[in-house]
Amino acid sequence: MRFALAGNPNCGKTTLFNLLTGSTAHVGNWPGVTVDRREGVYRGAPGKGGAQKIDIIDLPGIYSLSPYTPEEAVARNYILDDGPDLVINIIDSTNLERNLYLTTQIMESDIPMVVALNMTDVLRKNGGAVDTHELSRRLGVPVVNISALHSEGIGELMEAAVRAAADRRSGSSVLEGSAMGEAVHKIAHLFCERGLSNPTFRAVKAIEGDMPQTGGLSLSARIDEIKGEIGLDELFEGDFEAAVADARYSRITEGFSSVVAYTSSARGLTASDRIDSVLTHKLLGLPIFFLFMYCVFHLTFADPLIFSDLIAEGGIPSPGVMMQGWMGALTEWASDAAGGALESLGASEWAKGLVVDGIFAGVGSVLSFLPQILMLFLFLSLMEDSGYMARAAFLMDRPLRRFGLSGKAFLPLLMGFGCSVPAMMGTRTLDDEKERRLTVMLMPFFSCGAKLPIWAMFGAAIFPGNAGNAVFAVYAIGIAAAVITSVILRKTLLKGAASVFIMELPAYHLPRPLNLAIHLWEKMKGFVIRATTIIAGATVVIWFLSNFGFGLSMVERNSPESIVGILGRLAVPVFAPLGFASTPDAWKAVVAIVTGLIAKEMVVSTLGVLYNPQVEGDALEDEAASGALAAALVANFSPAAALSFMTFNLLSVPCMAAVASANGEMRSARWIWTTIAFWLITAWGGSFVVFRVARLLGF
Ligand code: GDP
Ligand code: MG
Repeated sequence: MRFALAGNPNCGKTTLFNLLTGSTAHVGNWPGVTVDRREGVYRGAPGKGGAQKIDIIDLPGIYSLSPYTPEEAVARNYILDDGPDLVINIIDSTNLERNLYLTTQIMESDIPMVVALNMTDVLRKNGGAVDTHELSRRLGVPVVNISALHSEGIGELMEAAVRAAADRRSGSSVLEGSAMGEAVHKIAHLFCERGLSNPTFRAVKAIEGDMPQTGGLSLSARIDEIKGEIGLDELFEGDFEAAVADARYSRITEGFSSVVAYTSSARGLTASDRIDSVLTHKLLGLPIFFLFMYCVFHLTFADPLIFSDLIAEGGIPSPGVMMQGWMGALTEWASDAAGGALESLGASEWAKGLVVDGIFAGVGSVLSFLPQILMLFLFLSLMEDSGYMARAAFLMDRPLRRFGLSGKAFLPLLMGFGCSVPAMMGTRTLDDEKERRLTVMLMPFFSCGAKLPIWAMFGAAIFPGNAGNAVFAVYAIGIAAAVITSVILRKTLLKGAASVFIMELPAYHLPRPLNLAIHLWEKMKGFVIRATTIIAGATVVIWFLSNFGFGLSMVERNSPESIVGILGRLAVPVFAPLGFASTPDAWKAVVAIVTGLIAKEMVVSTLGVLYNPQVEGDALEDEAASGALAAALVANFSPAAALSFMTFNLLSVPCMAAVASANGEMRSARWIWTTIAFWLITAWGGSFVVFRVARLLGF
């Protein structure tokens, strides 16, 4: 059996989906998280023959079943064409009237359905209750109270669903009994004769002037005839879509919403409203947001923490830096242990080099930043889960609009702080093609998790004491680049204005520890797996290329005569104006930039290999590798050059996976090449400007 979950955005579909299927799909407290449908399996429905397996499909959140937005099309086509055995219509019970609008449409199909009244915990807290018996009687389908977040009522819901799926149901329309009822009836009959499924649903759509897959075109003439016979044209002056919507709303307000009772006489302002009066305040909102973000970066990257020198001499590092230190010590210890083990086994010099200077130096330098990545994502998940992220989009809408972007585009861009790949897929929620292309093109400027090690490494090495500010500055440079290039693109390649942004703000929730843990676990898993597979493999390649010359003879480690040395030096002149290509070792930075085009973790692992100063064997335990790497960076990068190098990595081609993903979203060879060129040009130009400005400022 197949059950589909359908409901408005942010009503809790994915939470229920995860609960039923035991999966860990992304739950976000803002609309538009699920773009494609997702499938999972529910086991353990208490059927008569023991547990049974049910496929569960999580559809994107939609307000209606018209085919106007990509999400609506996905959901509508699934419900109509794939014919699931049952639809679980999830309703946010704190927003009954708006949610029932979709319900009245699903009811018109012939597919069995149950209504799951979600968020009943919130409703209860607000002093409300829904008379489910009465609502069920009026709708003609089972209604069950649940709270997906607290797993309440899930057993009852699934029992009711299994029972309902066994019965036949034929579509019913709230238009029955209105002037349009007769037309619906007649047209549905017409569809029935032609053997089409869901005749009532199709009939209402036909009256609205929307004909989803009716097969024969010959019907439209007959439909117009029926409309004429009944005199609908005169009644509604031809605007049937508005008339149908009106009819739905009036039935909902008259017929259904009275089933909610509020026990407390005056509902007054909810807690969310009161919090919002401060956090989305016209003047205070944005400063609070930026202050909050600043604190987040400070806690993750600062060393020492501000004012901490009052407590301890020299101050104390932020929790993020402290944990990074531990992780660094751990990877170093592992590297030493591996080196020692190889030595006692009598391994050859080059094998030891490969393991210690290649794999451990490269992968270890990437892995040591894991704690800081997790810390930043903990804050981002907290913001997202609590509902503050949605406020950020709301707050940013007005300033962004001036630059040709809307708050709607800001949501996928925010996801870009995590990873560009799913964020680019998230742009499918934008209906305007130009705005979608623009959003994909700006995506890399919203620094993703894989770039974090670069910022953390340079921040700590080049800007001691100010690492938090330096990282914050990188993020600010990214946003500035997005704003400036957006204005330019909107005036040239992608002429047009931002689309209108309408989003309801979800209620604030206390973040759920389990949800946070899942986010962090997924992040950690992804990062560690990448570091130990793709990045490790690529690091080995870099090690070989930096230890062998073109004649395949081993050269001195990391010598300019090695293969990457020769190739890197060829490219140095291209980067000379950007400030970081003036030292004899400059080719190493250039090689790191090029490998960074494949995956951004490669920047750090490449520098880790190429700048690894350990000399053959004896120095194994003498020098702290990370300290030496920092010293090498200081010798090769002035602060201005470091900022310029970071800017290049921030703005250039993000990684191969993101290019593939952008290609999937653009669906045009011309556009993907334009995009790649745009990224490279912006990176070069941005670094050039950053370097000059930083020098003027005395860095
Ligand atoms: P979707 O957009 O419909 O997939 O909704 P999500 O599953 O992503 O949930 C949106 C937000 O509502 C998340 O912050 C959830 O934690 C929260 N949520 C979901 N179900 C409930 C519930 O029953 N009670 C409460 N209080 N919050 C819920
Ligand atoms: Mg969802």
